[in-house]
Amino acid sequence: MKRKPSPVSEPESANDPSSTRKACPSTCCQEGVRLLGVLTPVGKVAYVQPPITISAAFVERAEALGHPERRFRFTGPCVEADCPQWTGAGCGIVDIAIQETPVGFPTDACSPGANNLPACGIRHSCRWYAQRGGLACAVCPTLVADTGGTMTYQSAEDITSKEV
Ligand code: SF4
Repeated sequence: MKRKPSPVSEPESANDPSSTRKACPSTCCQEGVRLLGVLTPVGKVAYVQPPITISAAFVERAEALGHPERRFRFTGPCVEADCPQWTGAGCGIVDIAIQETPVGFPTDACSPGANNLPACGIRHSCRWYAQRGGLACAVCPTLVADTGGTMTYQSAEDITSKEV
């Protein structure tokens, strides 16, 4: 299922700590969204600090190389019910990712109160963090979108082993 691109008319609202609007931590590659992270060769997302607004030229280059959402993570406004991943109460992606976490995955490191959450630039407004707290941050670096394939999301490690 291909996700509907998020509108980016107000990209900075999700970057304002006083705003109640949430940021989607995995939106599509399109002009005006911000680069949140880059997939590293070890299959983990490295977060860009602070996230950088991407240009049309960036989008063009990234799309020319194919599947930008498999190699980068982008953030833009969470559009809630306008997104096919919206469950009616929240984002289905993070719930599924946590539910499918393998036995032994170190989620305890990101338990409430833990001070070793990934260094990410959108925590104050992140939809996934607001919904699932540190557990979301535990699984977040392992996820990339796969909007060009048959699955919406895949493990970043699987993508790395196949394509990087
Ligand atoms: S889930 Fe956590 S690490 Fe991932 S984007 Fe949100 S706040 Fe950042």
